[in-house]
Amino acid sequence: MEFDVVIVGGGPAGLSTACRLMQLAQQHETEISVVVLEKGSEVGAHILSGAILEPRAMEELFPDWKARGAPLNTAVTGDEMHFYTGEDKSIKVPNFMIPKPMHNDGNYIVSLGNVTRWLGEQAEALGVEIFPGFAAAEILYNEDGSVRGVATGDMGIGTDGEHKDSYEPGMELLAKYTIFAEGCRGHLGKQLIAKFNLADGKSPQHYGIGLKELWTIKPENHKPGLVVHGAGWPLNRSGSTGGSFLYHLEDNQVVVGLIVDLNYTNPNLSPFDEFQMFKHHSTIAPVLEGGSRISYGARAIAKGGLNSLPKMTFPGGLIIGCDAGTLNFAKIKGSHTAMKSGMVAAETLFEALQQEDQPAGRELTGYEEAFERSWAYQELFGSRNFGPAMHKFGMYAGAGFNYMDQNFFGGRLPFTLRDQTPDHATLKPVREATEIEYRKPDGVTSFDKPSSVFLSNTNHEEDQPAHLTLADASIPIGKNLPEWGEPAQRYCPAGVYEVVTKDHESVFQINAQNCVHCKTCDIKDPSQNITWVVPEGGGGPNYPNM
Ligand SMILES: Cc1cc2nc3c(=O)[nH]c(=O)nc-3n(C[C@H](O)[C@H](O)[C@H](O)COP(=O)(O)OP(=O)(O)OC[C@H]3O[C@@H](n4cnc5c(N)ncnc54)[C@H](O)[C@@H]3O)c2cc1C
Repeated sequence: MEFDVVIVGGGPAGLSTACRLMQLAQQHETEISVVVLEKGSEVGAHILSGAILEPRAMEELFPDWKARGAPLNTAVTGDEMHFYTGEDKSIKVPNFMIPKPMHNDGNYIVSLGNVTRWLGEQAEALGVEIFPGFAAAEILYNEDGSVRGVATGDMGIGTDGEHKDSYEPGMELLAKYTIFAEGCRGHLGKQLIAKFNLADGKSPQHYGIGLKELWTIKPENHKPGLVVHGAGWPLNRSGSTGGSFLYHLEDNQVVVGLIVDLNYTNPNLSPFDEFQMFKHHSTIAPVLEGGSRISYGARAIAKGGLNSLPKMTFPGGLIIGCDAGTLNFAKIKGSHTAMKSGMVAAETLFEALQQEDQPAGRELTGYEEAFERSWAYQELFGSRNFGPAMHKFGMYAGAGFNYMDQNFFGGRLPFTLRDQTPDHATLKPVREATEIEYRKPDGVTSFDKPSSVFLSNTNHEEDQPAHLTLADASIPIGKNLPEWGEPAQRYCPAGVYEVVTKDHESVFQINAQNCVHCKTCDIKDPSQNITWVVPEGGGGPNYPNM
């Protein structure tokens, strides 16, 4: 199938590209063909975010978003920041001490899944073809090495590699330009970055894993529009860092979550158990008391910012949004910058498509300059030191540096800090690491992994080749056991990796059908041997409104 533009990934970045392209085509009374591939069973099914939405990109894309019914229903009414110094202790940070980018006046608390669903509807109304349930599995190249399109995966192949009765071969989708918008740690994006050396001269990308639950709470505990951010306990027990969030949405709902920086050093750390423990904090548990948990999920977050942003162009296409790493870590927000990177992409693409006789596989070099002129780039420039300062100086000194840099110098200090150690290389050997104590979940405020994964509505066809593959099959699975105590069993938020005892021996087991597509294993595996590839389209979580 041939199109002008193929977009891989129906998230904020991909759908903003699609919408803006069609708007431009309508304005200029011309026709272009645009298709969006989405691996989730529907648009939004794989989206998990906080989320506080800064509406700047939305205002530019659809100035009449309110009239069109965009689900930005809860304006921020209160904004708090806490340092949790222990389970029963916390210090509320005065508003004037909070770095400016972390203020949320004028923002909205949303379900990014629902905003994405709405963007999908707008795109379809503008004439974009969306193929949900289709995962782009392979990049197709022209003879000269430029990107020619993508192929979706075959459906109906059994675990043994044989065709089942349901076998359907994948499709080739060819395009003048192919846009990769797979979100954080896209598996095709990772291949492109390596093949075209897009990250040369950049700091390694840095990541966090975000775990989140949606709750219905008692009306008397609900304060619509209240935003509560925090740092410290329980992560500080192991010297690890990250941040928590509690947002009060509409309809007596709150979201609660914890983002754990993946540069942590203690292989005994379990982000899932840290999150479950966090909910017992004396300021959080009372909010959830008497409520019920509706949904659970997890997703990695790319937070390296400008220092880690790869070159975003290559012959035949672009890599945009969190697939590249456009998130502004100082704001802990990436949806507005992902959208803007997509809108700028659309403007560059539209101009290129208007030129006659374009050679196949052209590189849209003008995109980088156009992106650098945008406010999204200016934001990333101003916050380039934020993450490295936290990594280099630790939470307290890093926070002090960031307060000064952001509030007094507007992010314009005349030097750039860098963190050159990739997150997979930070783990200490397990013999040097302290034990971390986690208490058993009480089934009321805290829960175990199986019941949590159940709430993510995750489903994969069981009889299919494993989508968690090994880069080097000669390195045995479970190799990390002696050195690092196999950290995968702890960093995976869905119980995919387990060490079980069989015949008095420790055996490493992979329960691939539990995978919530967070990509943490691909990022944090100390041997860098686990390689996440897309399973059959439609598999994975089915998040309702995360
Ligand atoms: C816990 C957490 C909290 C966050 N909080 C906030 C916040 O408060 N505010 C904020 O602005 N941002 C927040 N973010 C970041 C924000 O979610 C991202 O910046 C944003 O979603 C990036 O948009 P994207 O379109 O680049 O990628 P994504 O939103 O990840 O979308 C990518 C889409 O591509 C699809 N896809 C991937 N690979 C393929 C493939 N090979 N074939 C087909 N489809 C594919 C995926 O299923 C997905 O639908 C948070 C993130 C996390 C994890």
